Amino acid sequence: MELNTPISQVGNLGRIFAKKLKRLGLETVKDLLFYYPFRYDDYSNILSISDLKSKKSGTIKGKIKLIANHRTAKKKMIITEAIICDESDSIKCIWFNQPFLTKILKPGTNVYLSGRLDYDKHYGLQLLSPSYEIVRKQAPIHTGRLVPIYPVTAGLSQKQIRSLIRKVIPLAQKVSDWLPRFIKTKYNLINLTTALEQIHFPFDKNWLEKAKHRLKFDELFLLQIKTQLIRQKIKEKNALSIRFKSKKTQEFVKNLPFKLTNAQRKCAWEIIRDIEKNQPMNRLLEGDVGSGKTVVAVIAILNVALNKYQTAYMTPTEILAQQQFQNISEMLKQYEINIALLTRGISIISKKGVIKKSSKKELIEKIKKNEIDVVIGTHTLIQKKIKFANLAFVIIDEQHRFGVEQRAKLIKQTTKVFKQKNFSPHFLSMTATPIPRSLALTVYGDLDISIIDELPKNRKTIITKIVKHRELKQTYQFIREEIKKGRQAFVICPLIDPSDKLGVKSVKEEYEKLKGTIFPDLNISILHGKLKAKEKEKIMKEFLENKINILISTTVVEVGIDIPNASIMFVEGADRFGLAQLYQLRGRVGRSKWQSYCFLVPENPSEKARKRLNAVLKAKNGLELAELDLKMRGPGEIFGTEQSGYLESLKIAKLSDIQIIKETQEVVKNLSWNTLEKKYPELFEKIRQEIKISHLD
Ligand code: ADP
Ligand code: MG
Repeated sequence: MELNTPISQVGNLGRIFAKKLKRLGLETVKDLLFYYPFRYDDYSNILSISDLKSKKSGTIKGKIKLIANHRTAKKKMIITEAIICDESDSIKCIWFNQPFLTKILKPGTNVYLSGRLDYDKHYGLQLLSPSYEIVRKQAPIHTGRLVPIYPVTAGLSQKQIRSLIRKVIPLAQKVSDWLPRFIKTKYNLINLTTALEQIHFPFDKNWLEKAKHRLKFDELFLLQIKTQLIRQKIKEKNALSIRFKSKKTQEFVKNLPFKLTNAQRKCAWEIIRDIEKNQPMNRLLEGDVGSGKTVVAVIAILNVALNKYQTAYMTPTEILAQQQFQNISEMLKQYEINIALLTRGISIISKKGVIKKSSKKELIEKIKKNEIDVVIGTHTLIQKKIKFANLAFVIIDEQHRFGVEQRAKLIKQTTKVFKQKNFSPHFLSMTATPIPRSLALTVYGDLDISIIDELPKNRKTIITKIVKHRELKQTYQFIREEIKKGRQAFVICPLIDPSDKLGVKSVKEEYEKLKGTIFPDLNISILHGKLKAKEKEKIMKEFLENKINILISTTVVEVGIDIPNASIMFVEGADRFGLAQLYQLRGRVGRSKWQSYCFLVPENPSEKARKRLNAVLKAKNGLELAELDLKMRGPGEIFGTEQSGYLESLKIAKLSDIQIIKETQEVVKNLSWNTLEKKYPELFEKIRQEIKISHLD
């Protein structure tokens, strides 16, 4: 066997399960070695039977004395009963519907058994469906140790995958350790081979920790290197220098219907400085919902257009594209700037506030001829047939990360002349998701960051209240009155289906409740991530047009869209959300002249939940809450599951491994890239294999 031997050739088990394992992304021996358990059952302490009887669960080692199958009269189930004994005592074990056990565990066999004790009125104490393993020379793998538990699919048992991995474990010897010795010594890291052996079948908890440390280090180290390389690659590219038009910019700012906040000024200035360079900008603009990121972007867009270059502005949804088209057209209506909206369904151009229809074909032609200055759209902008004559600036609104591949595709859409000169547009991503500073470098290591950390002064405070269950009725009454006045309400639930998790409020249940008994006369719709994109858009559009009074939703509404007429944010199961997330949800209302309200209904009205929620009431900005979330609940809560995609390279490391993050940062910072290949060929090779950034070239 070799590391690249297909799983189908690993004995009987491999042959039988190759297909199923492929579904888990596992194809070779090496894949199995790097398929880590997600937890361990601690059966390491082998008890005597008499000790087991005084505890609730554990592992024993004993001899089978008797074993037999019989069928229950009522339930038509086959029960296997066995008596096991050791020097101290004996105990009964039972299994259900596994009659073959009598063939494996014959009387006289020595076995390990791990499981839980059950007390039955008629039968007394018994071990209920314990895991079993016959005592052999080799150390046990299913019992009598820290037992690894793997993520599996249907039809593949823990025992099967464990046995399969046991078979390939000797091959861990063949994995070359690419980490230079000095790094291992400095950070007290064990060899890769040992780490792989120990992550699957640890001797004890101490070794397990060592294995985890080493493997986490590897992942975070490669992630840091990757972001560094991307950063370097981008720096090697050329960009169009955007000359700052100071007079026109001042005039634009003066004519705005509001005064820019200091934070907006500072961020706009950072961007202007950056796009003046002939190296591409790669910047993230972070600011709470409603902090006014659009106008900051528009200041840059204006300068790009005055330099006679093009901007592409991308949004995650069509509605958001439409809204931003309107907003940006309005802001730039004093200027001779051609602004286009290009989505699946719509292609229009506005100039000096006048809107003209245009066929898609016509519009694409105009973009190619540099007759359009700003193109706003969804991902549809990344299409081969759309060629930009002069693309200098790309804005990605409300999306966490713009992949390296997408970036490469976009660069390919710029015309030939551009490509020859190794040009890349300037990139600006905008997000309302606050990234705590301690994480920013890991998550966005390749980006420079600008933060808008204050809201415009004119914002009305949103009246926020933690609602007790006995106050619900009166709160519903209040919502009814607001709706009577013409307003609209968001109702947010943690889940989609009642079955998703017991006891947690779901969108569907909430709909039944509100539509069924509380607001039967009102228009209520539901929105969640499992709906098709088209349906979501349709519902959001109806809500925007006030055809829906109450929108019951999961947190999908967090993203971007402005519903100025909505004045109520009602959050069920509020204690289940991250604080930063609640803060953002609240930011969906209070976006117009209407006084707005946010009601937080904790599912578990404990003192602790109340205290946590109170932080939302007091917070000055989302970033502050994100830091608090990170401390109290870990990074998963900040990014949510949907957004964790860009960290999929992390199998074992977590963003809360702050210490290891710091260590890997330190290493990467001090690596000398020029001598890397010569001094550390294994490391160099590993980087080359793992990091496919060729599409950047
Ligand atoms: P977000 O940061 O969530 O994208 P927007 O750019 O959509 O926020 O701005 C939200 C609203 O605030 C818009 O209606 C915008 O015109 C307004 N706005 C932006 N900056 C200011 C400001 N300095 N003072 C007052 N209102 C502002
Ligand atoms: Mg926005």
